[in-house]
Amino acid sequence: MQTIQISKVVSDFLKEEKKLFIDGEFVSSSNNKTFPTLNPANNEVLTEVHEASDEDIENAVHAAREAFENGPWSAMTPLERGDLLYKLANLIEEHQQYIAEIDSLDNGKPVSEVLENDLPNAVGQFKYFSGWASKLVGQHIPVNGNYLNYTRHEPVGVVGQIIPWNFPFMMAAWKLAPALATGCTVILKPAEQTPLSALYLAKLVQEAGFPKGVINIVNGHGETTGTALVKHPLVNKIAFTGSTEVGKIIMKEAANTMKRVTLELGGKSPNIILEDANVEKAAKGVFAGIMYNQGEVCSAGSRAYVHSSIYDEFVEKLVNLTKEVKLGSGLQSGITMGSLVSQEQKDRVMNYIEVGKSEGAKLVCGGGASEQGCFVEPTIFADVEDDMRVSREEIFGPVLVISKYDTDREAVERANDSAFGLGAGIWTENITKAHNIANKLKSGSVWINCYNATDPASPFGGFKNSGFGREMGSYALENYTEVKSIWVSLD
Ligand code: NAD
Repeated sequence: MQTIQISKVVSDFLKEEKKLFIDGEFVSSSNNKTFPTLNPANNEVLTEVHEASDEDIENAVHAAREAFENGPWSAMTPLERGDLLYKLANLIEEHQQYIAEIDSLDNGKPVSEVLENDLPNAVGQFKYFSGWASKLVGQHIPVNGNYLNYTRHEPVGVVGQIIPWNFPFMMAAWKLAPALATGCTVILKPAEQTPLSALYLAKLVQEAGFPKGVINIVNGHGETTGTALVKHPLVNKIAFTGSTEVGKIIMKEAANTMKRVTLELGGKSPNIILEDANVEKAAKGVFAGIMYNQGEVCSAGSRAYVHSSIYDEFVEKLVNLTKEVKLGSGLQSGITMGSLVSQEQKDRVMNYIEVGKSEGAKLVCGGGASEQGCFVEPTIFADVEDDMRVSREEIFGPVLVISKYDTDREAVERANDSAFGLGAGIWTENITKAHNIANKLKSGSVWINCYNATDPASPFGGFKNSGFGREMGSYALENYTEVKSIWVSLD
């Protein structure tokens, strides 16, 4: 397999000092503290990145506040705001090859996947939400008495956005686009494992001509930089994507300043394969649903419930599909699975594989890891019991657990018997059954004969411990607006 030569633009970018982006400028952290970011394919340091201190967060919040209250951003018309979002979308499209290389180096995922999925999706977010900037209409409400009553949907203010490492650039786009469309100003904190592509985005933000202070990008660790952002009294809202554990910490902390909070958290999403399913198609869909992005997808279909009449055939097909996987560095052409994001994540996933074995789950393929770098084989456990930890806890890696069921009712009950509720899949040729089961599943997305389809126009988010609030679609605008009711006496 050939290794793709990284572009000169990217090698130059890696040599630049990785500062903070505050008030429209790249600035050093106040204490000059940095942290390394690694290429997980070989665990070598890619570069050092400035870490935002409390003082830097203070500066970023004040810049965002000023931009929100008084700057040119606050005076812009909705159409002008929309134009800027569209301009940024076009710039991202022009620079997509570079961004794909950066995310692949920093995260381990294949360049081809960033180009096929993450980048078009990110561009789509900015294009889609550019249109919403001019459509944030309120209502005229016929009330009792001689009044004119109407509502305004106003931007919530300064927003802190904290994102994970699994889709570094795409997650930034999911967060930024709706917030900017509503007129908010933003302080974005990327994950410490993947800080680079957001800094590349900052350059495009400058080039697009966003007024200073509208978008600020502060790298750093969760317990320090993230906490400072969540605690700051002048931040009106926190939009968070990450683990359920950290989501709970943020929700508690945000209560002290009554911040608005939306949380996109973890999952343990089920796929139900009914007896009349097209087994070939279902096997491919379930396989992609868990193995895509090395299984590091919050909505990964990590549990499969298969009707007993097709169980053996289905397991065999899935095992055969793992044999076609080409594991390798994200920069190699022809690979279909990259490395996990970090040594820590590799250890976590390998630990779960050991837990599965010790619980008595049947390892039917995979289970191994590379000596060098953070590669884990696609792994499948069959005959898994519902009370096993590998069936209940989020692994966040390429590990699928499969169980057998006999009745549709049983399948739905077992699928719903989870602390999470992010996604679910149904595989059947009986469309009436499919709709009935979809209505009963307790999850934010249900995919019928497909899995993990998303679109900037369609909402995405969780039930239960998978969080609340919806990304994308018109629903995402509610995360970033306050509704004001205005009364005018007509007497
Ligand atoms: P994580 O919760 O440890 O970290 C996510 C982000 O939160 C990072 O930027 C981190 O620096 C920050 N953070 C950590 N502790 C913090 C604190 N105390 N205060 C403020 N910020 C803090 O999660 P992770 O392991 O990096 O990411 C994987 C998790 O994210 C998985 O559980 C996955 O399911 C979830 N995820 C959910 C979605 C979704 O849309 N629902 C999408 C992607 C990932």
